[in-house]
Amino acid sequence: MPTLKTLAIVLRYADYRENDRMLTLLSPTLGRVDALCRGCRKPKSPLLAASEWFAEGEYVLYSASGRVTVTSCQLSDSFYPLRQDYDLLKYASYILSIAETVARPGEEALGLFTLLARSLSRLAYKSMDPRAVTSAFLLLLAALEGYRPRLRHCVRCGEPVSAEAALRMDIDSGGLVCSKCASSLPEKLYPVRPAQVAWMQDVLAEGIEKTARPPADAPLPLLAEYVERRLEKRPASSKYMRYDA
Ligand SMILES: [Zn+2]
Repeated sequence: MPTLKTLAIVLRYADYRENDRMLTLLSPTLGRVDALCRGCRKPKSPLLAASEWFAEGEYVLYSASGRVTVTSCQLSDSFYPLRQDYDLLKYASYILSIAETVARPGEEALGLFTLLARSLSRLAYKSMDPRAVTSAFLLLLAALEGYRPRLRHCVRCGEPVSAEAALRMDIDSGGLVCSKCASSLPEKLYPVRPAQVAWMQDVLAEGIEKTARPPADAPLPLLAEYVERRLEKRPASSKYMRYDA
């Protein structure tokens, strides 16, 4: 810096003083950035919309004596439908808190930024099952972060496991367990259905939009557990991801 333009999405904010907010931004080039947004809570502030959850745009940041300030923003999307639907908001805010936990200050995050922007856009504008969108976000995030689950081989013995025969997953070991190995330490295993495994294989291979329709029960509780155990963090909204739809 001192003055720098970057694309960013608002992951979180905290109200500060009378009219200000401290924003936590995700930038594809700068990673996670905390930036003060002065005066943005005044009703006529040009930064009002740029200081809300999910706001995406080109932010101009000024850095001096260790503090970053937002000086202006060209908003590209506010993902407005997410604010109007309580159900969508739950999934979107969960996705934001996971992204916030994964992002690191000063570390390039192009993959995470792209995945986040596309996931928010699918939730807001496409009539896709929000549990499937959130599941795909978690699965692709796991792949980005280097802990892609093994969905074609048993994590205990290494033998191939077909999707049709896949019934159990060992979350700590990171993948499917074959029926032979499932008889030892069964208490450590998480149930999974063949249709869920086939869908996860397709999402990893081709992305969510090219895959066949997700199973009626997207594997969200499983993937939330899988990712959160590795992050060692449970966002407050995590409880909504737990029930089977
Ligand atoms: Zn095995």
